[in-house]
Amino acid sequence: MPDAPTCPTCGQPATTALAGPEHGWECRNEACAEFGQAISAAEPASGTDPGPGR
Ligand SMILES: [Zn+2]
Repeated sequence: MPDAPTCPTCGQPATTALAGPEHGWECRNEACAEFGQAISAAEPASGTDPGPGR
């Protein structure tokens, strides 16, 4: 099982079971604003970087 990226909005682990590999990872939290939205797992959040290290 691959490591599922977490949704940056709700922190819940994403899933690919909703739409399949065509959409990639999606938030599965229906209460989240990012529900059904594609989550960019390999894309760093530019501008919101907490800083070097952690
Ligand atoms: Zn979410």
